[in-house]
Amino acid sequence: MQEFDIVVIGGGPGGLAAAYGLHARGLNVAVVEKDLWGGTCPNRGCDPKKILMAAVETQGHAEALQSHGLTSVPQIDWPALMATKRAYTEQIPSGTHDGLAAAKIATFHGTATFNDDGTLTVGQDQLNSANWIIATGQAPRIPAIDGAEWLNTSNEFLDLDHLPADITLMGAGYVGVELAAIANAAGSQVHLVHHSDRPLRAFDGDLVKDLLRRLKAEGVDVQLNTEITTVAPADDQFKVTTADGNSWTTGMVFATAGRQPAVADLHLDRVNVATTAHGITVNGNLQTTNPHIFALGDVVDRPQPKLTPVAGFEGRYLTETLTTCDSPAIEYPVIPSVVYGKTQLAQLGVTTTEAAQHPEQYQVNDLDLTGWYSYRRIQDPHARIKVVVDQATKRIVGAAVLSSEAEQVINYLDFVITHRMSSADISQMITAYPTLASDLTYFN
Ligand SMILES: Cc1cc2nc3c(=O)[nH]c(=O)nc-3n(C[C@H](O)[C@H](O)[C@H](O)COP(=O)(O)OP(=O)(O)OC[C@H]3O[C@@H](n4cnc5c(N)ncnc54)[C@H](O)[C@@H]3O)c2cc1C
Repeated sequence: MQEFDIVVIGGGPGGLAAAYGLHARGLNVAVVEKDLWGGTCPNRGCDPKKILMAAVETQGHAEALQSHGLTSVPQIDWPALMATKRAYTEQIPSGTHDGLAAAKIATFHGTATFNDDGTLTVGQDQLNSANWIIATGQAPRIPAIDGAEWLNTSNEFLDLDHLPADITLMGAGYVGVELAAIANAAGSQVHLVHHSDRPLRAFDGDLVKDLLRRLKAEGVDVQLNTEITTVAPADDQFKVTTADGNSWTTGMVFATAGRQPAVADLHLDRVNVATTAHGITVNGNLQTTNPHIFALGDVVDRPQPKLTPVAGFEGRYLTETLTTCDSPAIEYPVIPSVVYGKTQLAQLGVTTTEAAQHPEQYQVNDLDLTGWYSYRRIQDPHARIKVVVDQATKRIVGAAVLSSEAEQVINYLDFVITHRMSSADISQMITAYPTLASDLTYFN
């Protein structure tokens, strides 16, 4: 039996933030990872996706400037782009493991399973610990349809040697919409199928409609209120059939209908850790129903979006909580969410839906930005922002943005909201002009 102060299960961004933080505070820490060191984000999520997006965004900017100074649209060379992605991702697992080893944090590679006596089995190793952190993240959800065995996931998409000429994405959450944007830009005919009429439910409905219109205009076959019921091999392709009897032939089908907490291997029932369909139940201190077991990151059932910076924030929170006597409940700052693509959709703070429910408290400024200098310069075809302003303080408290520059604008607004800046505070700053930052003074 090997003894530790803390064993962290899951070597992704959340688990690693906690492991490094607790190790730096002098605790004897071990990390267990069953698959790729570094977890989802750098291996199969944010980072590889954004490397592919670099080509997509560049193509989008060039398209917008046709007849405005550019004369051709760059085409994506998928194998070369994939090689660029792999040159980055292939060094992540060993680099992450080497970093842990250099810091003298103990590592175990294998699937972690709790035993009835509260210890942990990882392959041949038995671990015991004063406290545990579960940071096992999520795994793609595979819908129970006929032919589910033919479905691929974002994991396979982000590592395709060749992109088929025609693909189907089952689910228009942010992963589905982003993969649609990538495959469409790379020349594939994309069928993006969603079961309801309201994909990307967390985002502003008008801006989602604008984004879907843009995707359709680019050639994506967006099908709303559509259930795929069967996927079956058809020669060297697949036949997709929907509940209303429609069917088509496609090269590959990807399940992009959400992700589910990765808890099945852990045997949480043996250690009295309660779960729901959305993840592990925790209190305000990220403590599970077992007082010696904590959880963080995507595996937790909580209303905040399941994103890398949130997992890292929780890792830093647990570092404090587990090494100090004082443990106030976790308080999250505002959290930006972005759907990346040629046109990006971003959201932060008080939503336009919440604002509409409390008109006495909030005002929503809906601004068409296409005529603004920053967007005219790049001929952005769709640029719109809805800014939520608190009526009493006149401060910006939320925003929804659609444009090719939304990721930048939302981060500037994150700064404004986090630091509770008023328009007078903003006007006291001198930012480089003309840039997206210098637009900030015009938003409220
Ligand atoms: C396609 C895609 C795109 C994304 N894009 C973005 C983005 O643009 N921005 C953003 O912020 N977030 C993005 N995310 C989400 C982001 O990847 C996650 O929020 C983040 O990785 C969560 O970190 P985590 O540490 O909680 O879990 P993970 O990174 O998932 O790490 C959990 C680790 O635990 C391991 N594990 C699971 N079970 C066990 C077990 N029993 N024993 C041992 N190890 C185990 C897993 O192998 C995994 O390595 C994306 C995700 C996907 C899938």
